[in-house]
This record gives sequence, structure tokens and C-alpha cells, in this order.
Amino acid sequence: MVKPVSVWVEAGREGRLLSYDASGVGPLQAGDLVRVRLRGRLHAGLVSAECAEVPAGVQLEPVLEQLESAAVDPAWQHLLVEVSMLCHTAPFQVLKTALPSGWLGQKRSNSSHGRQQLVAELTQPYPSDDGANDLSAKQQRLLQELQRNGPQSLSKLEKKGLSRSIVKALEQRQLLKTQRRHLEDKESAVEAISPQEQPPPLSAEQQQVLEAIKASGDQQAWLLWGVTGSGKTEVYLRCCLEPLAAGQSVLLLTPEIGLIPQLLERCRRRFGDAVVSFHSGLGESERLRAWRRCRSGAPCLVVGTRSAIFLPLPKLGLIVLDEEHDSSYKQESPMPCYHAREVAWIRSRLQKCLLLLGSATPSLESWLLTRSKDAPLGLLHLSKRIRERPLPPVRVVDMRLELADGHRRLISRPLLERLAALPERGQQAVVLVPRRGYSTFLSCRSCGEAVQCPHCDVSLTVHRGRDGHSWLRCHWCDHREEINQRCSHCGSTAFKPFGAGTQRVMDSLEQELEGLRLLRFDRDSTRGRDGHQRLLDRFAAGEADVLVGTQMLAKGMDLPQVTLAAVLAADGLLHRPDVRAAEQSLQLLLQLAGRAGRGEQPGEVLVQTYSPDHRVIRHLVDGRYGRFLEEETAVREQGQLVPYCRACLLRFSSPQASITASSATTLLEAIRAKIEQAGWCAIGPAPAARAKVAGLSRWQLLLQGPAESPLPLPAEQELRQLLPRSVNLSIDPDPLEL
Ligand code: ADP
Ligand code: ZN
Ligand code: ZN
Repeated sequence: MVKPVSVWVEAGREGRLLSYDASGVGPLQAGDLVRVRLRGRLHAGLVSAECAEVPAGVQLEPVLEQLESAAVDPAWQHLLVEVSMLCHTAPFQVLKTALPSGWLGQKRSNSSHGRQQLVAELTQPYPSDDGANDLSAKQQRLLQELQRNGPQSLSKLEKKGLSRSIVKALEQRQLLKTQRRHLEDKESAVEAISPQEQPPPLSAEQQQVLEAIKASGDQQAWLLWGVTGSGKTEVYLRCCLEPLAAGQSVLLLTPEIGLIPQLLERCRRRFGDAVVSFHSGLGESERLRAWRRCRSGAPCLVVGTRSAIFLPLPKLGLIVLDEEHDSSYKQESPMPCYHAREVAWIRSRLQKCLLLLGSATPSLESWLLTRSKDAPLGLLHLSKRIRERPLPPVRVVDMRLELADGHRRLISRPLLERLAALPERGQQAVVLVPRRGYSTFLSCRSCGEAVQCPHCDVSLTVHRGRDGHSWLRCHWCDHREEINQRCSHCGSTAFKPFGAGTQRVMDSLEQELEGLRLLRFDRDSTRGRDGHQRLLDRFAAGEADVLVGTQMLAKGMDLPQVTLAAVLAADGLLHRPDVRAAEQSLQLLLQLAGRAGRGEQPGEVLVQTYSPDHRVIRHLVDGRYGRFLEEETAVREQGQLVPYCRACLLRFSSPQASITASSATTLLEAIRAKIEQAGWCAIGPAPAARAKVAGLSRWQLLLQGPAESPLPLPAEQELRQLLPRSVNLSIDPDPLEL
């Protein structure tokens, strides 16, 4: 007898719902993953509750095997569907992103699914103190065990003296159910969660904040605006306690993978085995183990980067986004182009859990949400550093004056002086260079040409190895080539590196300040597993006086010996052509400033710039970020810029520039009437800021419309049908870079 089931399989980006015959495998439920064949190829597909129609007389292909039962539960699927709408893409696409890699779609291997066990779990919560029923002592103990530690395998329960016959008896009374599925190895080893470390007594401000949050009940969202070093992380940890004790899980997100080790350690000291980490640095099997542990429903505290927002956590009590303003929370490609903060908002609403956004420099968007009439976001302040340590004063070095005085070097005299004095005081400094590499690019002093990547529309960067050998490298496609001694345009040999990368700053410092011990902190030097942490550990252990690094140096590190934070060329940040340039550069500079003076000794911040009167520099000096936000709001409102308008970016790419361009135009003509009717307008199509990357020519079409209005676009699939197959389209409904 044929038993039809509907299965989502990958056919195009949308996925398609097809019917298969499940009579050869055990009972299937919506959310199970199965192996099926489509056009001769093996696929992993997702069993759906919907019914695809089976025309009479059609022979169904069989479901070959069940790969994973209950891979997707209905509530979680609901979240993914909402995200797909937000990101204007197919639910299938979001599912593929949220499931462990390779689970859904073609070509997956069986290995990632591993061994299954018979697992017992409660059908309803069991009130532990209930002794006045007709259950035997052992039966009660078993239910308590499951209530406290979540689902467990029957073999594990047996080891605890709870035999299969007890399980069977309770299953007959429908107090628990058993199921063949995977259990994360350590899951059953997790005992009741109890704090491992005594937390410090809270400051008065921290106490007030915590009380406000506790009194708010679930479903509330808070913006915790606390200056750097004010003890926000401690507040997050305190907020985790209640949900964990109540058997719920917590998501604690941080923008940079480099910040994970520090945060993990703090969490593990407090919550032991309940802590799970999830980020791109983990191997596939570790990610899978973390994913399964989350899905098991046993309470855990997940410390992760943006993709952790999709983890299946059936009982979620709290989501924390640390440094909520950080642009790393936004995924630009591939689709879905989501912002983890937006997903967190949806998730907190669907799962009725508390949302806590923390930052020393809140995003304009979040801050505005605290100011509207029925503000959906409550505002909480931490205005002082722990132990009333002062925020470090900011000193601006006007590089124009340095030049006028005949000092042409990269590092100004005031900075040199301060750096020179570090060793004898036993203090340390961090120096921000807003780029990486030896220098930004190579250019010809005769004809002015910069050496470009042959595949991308960007200049190549000079890199230098330990042996002094130099080569050129593209930051976009990783193309590498030897340095030519002659300009390929005019043949000149007057060929000079321009700009200042981390490497060049290291060299200058070495020359100018002999004996100063330096460490470099950028994507190249922190490569590999725990690369960040190893470098930070060495710096924290006092192996160097100065840490020279790019953006990631400004974020989150808490090192008491650092008394000086300096930025070499603030101008590169200030003058970026982007709507959010001012906001983002002030955020970065204030974060950098926050690294100094966190310990006993007071700190200082030094900013080298050619634009000392720029409003970002002004607000950096006066430290009044709130005033900046007000000013910036007025600027955006007046110019009708985001968030006072809504933007959507369509990105096109293909190997041929002419085809990319004409496709963008064709698409615009097809949607023009519809978008104009909705009060939207189109800007472009135009070449993207990087018009060529890895051999693909890139164009973009910017759409603008009234704030908060829905996208006036047909479905992704319809848009794709307007384009030749060679043209790739990505839709970014609320792009961060404009
Ligand atoms: P933020 O996240 O706001 O930058 P942290 O939570 O990292 O601040 O706190 C800064 C430093 O102060 C850390 O070293 C932390 O251990 C310490 N700290 C935080 N709260 C307290 C407290 N209540 N008592 C003592 N030290 C604290
Ligand atoms: Zn030249
Ligand atoms: Zn390239």
C-alpha cells in the first residue's frame, strides 16, 4: 500500500513540495528529514504537514530512509518563515541557513547524522514537589530527573537505576514519550545548573538596572546603555540566572568571534557545563553537537555570533545582544540578508522572551525606539564605570600642525612621547590603524596609477612576511602576486607604498622607538583557531607594550594595564561615503577609548587627525554620545535618510559587465510601475562601489520608499525569472551600507 508524504526538496532556490511514498520506512512526521531521490540524485528533504497532490496513476518514488526525526519543530519553523518574509526570500532558503550545513539539499553525506538512541522525554512539565499522587517513588524520581535535566536516553536512565519497565509504565500513562533520535553526547551528563562562582556584589546602578529588568516580566525589551567598563556584562550574567533556573535557555550574542573566548570563560566560571558556544570557528561536528544540544530543550546558555540567533531553542527565556550597534550583526551575503537584531525582535515576540540590547554607543535605530510614544524598547542607563573609575580624557592631535612644524612622520610627537614612557611605568597601549596589511596600496609616483587586482576593482595591498619578502594581495578574492619593480603603465621605477597599514606602523614604531615591544592584531596575525585569544593572552601577560591593530582591537577587550588608546588616522573613517559614516566612526572611536584606563591607573586617548573640527571628533572629546544622536537624528530627518526612509538594495553580478547592466535595467523596467505606485523610487542601476569582484561585474539598484512601508516587490522567484541564468541577484531589504 502506498503511503504518500509531502517532502520539501531543493529544486532551485525556492525548494519544491513533492510527494513520495513512505510505506517503506517507519511513521514520519512533519519536521523529519528524509533521504529521497530527485531526477536521479540523492537529496535530503524535509517532511511537510501540507499535502502535495498526487495525480491519479502517478507512480511515487519511495522515501529511502529517515535521516533525522523532528529536525524542525513547528514553532521554530514559524520563526524561519517570518525571517524569510523579512528578508524577502523563500522559507526554504532560511531553513537551509538555520539547519546544520549540508542537512537540507543535495549531496549531503550521512555521517553528520550519527547514531540514534531511544530517548525519553516528558509530555508535560512535571511539578517536582508533587508527592500526593499514586506514582511509585521510582516513577516520581524518573519524572523529576527528566524535568530537571531534560530528555535522556533509556540507557543513561538505566545507569541511574531507572529501568525500562518504569519508563514503559509512565509511557502508558502518557506522562512521557519515547522516541528514537539523536542525543548530544554530553547532554545527559549535564546536572542541575548551579552557579560555580560567587558573583561580585553589584554597584548601585547595576542593582537598579537588574531590578527594573526583573520586574518587567517576559516579552519586554530593554536597551541597556552603559558606558564602557560600567559592568554591562555582569548585568547580562545576572539576568541569565532566573531563566536557567526555571529550565529555560538563554542566547547571548556578541558581534566578533574574537570576543567569544573572553565571554565564554566568564560564563563558564559562572554557569559551568550549561554554557554552549556557537560560531563559525567551530568545526562541523562541534557545531552539530551544539545545535543538537540546543534542540534537546535542556536549559543552556548559548554564547555565539550572529548565526546563533537561528539555533532551535524550544524554551527560550532571554536573548541578549551585546554591542547591539555593531555592523557585524548584519549578514550582507549570501541571502538571507538578515540583521541578527531584527531576528531577535521577531524571536522574542514569538517565544515571549525577554530581549536585552546592550551597548555603550547604541545604534540610532534602537535609540529612536526608546523615544517614540508607546516605546517598544525601555531604556536603562549605566552612567559610571565600576568603582567610579573615570572615563579617559580624549586629546586630539592636529596633524596639519605636525606637518607645518616639519614633522612628516606617521606617528606624531605627542604619541611618540607617550609610547616611549610606557615600559618604565609598566603600562600598555593599543593603537588603532583603520586598515590592515603593510600599506594600503602600491602606487606609481610618476603616473599616479595604483596596482589593481586583475579580478576585482580594488587596489592590491602590500603584505610582508617574517623573512622580509613582500608580495601583493587582494583582500576581496585573495589573488596574490609578486611586486613588480616597474609600473605596468609608464615603466617608471618610482613606485611607492601609500597609506599606513598595521605592518607599516609596526615598522615605523620599531624605527622610532627602539626597544618598545610590539604585537600586531589584525586578520592576518589572528588567523587559525583561537588566534585572537592567543594574541590577547600574550598581550595580557605583558609580552608587549603596544598592541597595533585594526577595528577588532576596539571591541570589548578588558585589560587593566592598558592606559593609552590611540588612533593613527581617524580621517579614513570620518570621510567614508556612507549615510552611517558619522555614527559608525563615533561608535568605533568611543569603543576604542573604552579600552583605556579600565584598571587602577587612569587612562588617556589620543586621536591623530587632519579634521579636528569634525563633529564626530567634537563629540568624541566631549563624550556626549546622546547629544550626537540627537544631532544625527536631525540630520537624517532633514535629509529624509534612513531610518526616515526605507531602502532596499538589489545587487546583480555576472561575469559580463554588459549583461549585468542590461539585466538590472530590464528588471527595473518590469517593476517600475509597481514601485512608483507604492510611493517608492529607484536610484540607478549603477555600478557597485566595488564594480568588479573575483571576476564578476557588479551592479546595484537602490530602492527608496517611505519609512516602515512594505517592499513593493514581487516574490524573489519572480524577480529571478526576469534575469538570464548567468546573473545572480541578491535582495537586501534594509542594507547597512548605503
Ligand atoms: P562592560 O561590559 O560594561 O564593558 P564589564 O561587565 O566587562 O563592563 O565590567 C568591567 C570590569 O568591571 C570587569 O573586569 C568586571 O569583572 C568588573 N565588574 C563588573 N561589575 C562589577 C562589580 N559589581 N563589582 C566589581 N567588579 C565588577
Ligand atoms: Zn606609472
Ligand atoms: Zn581580487
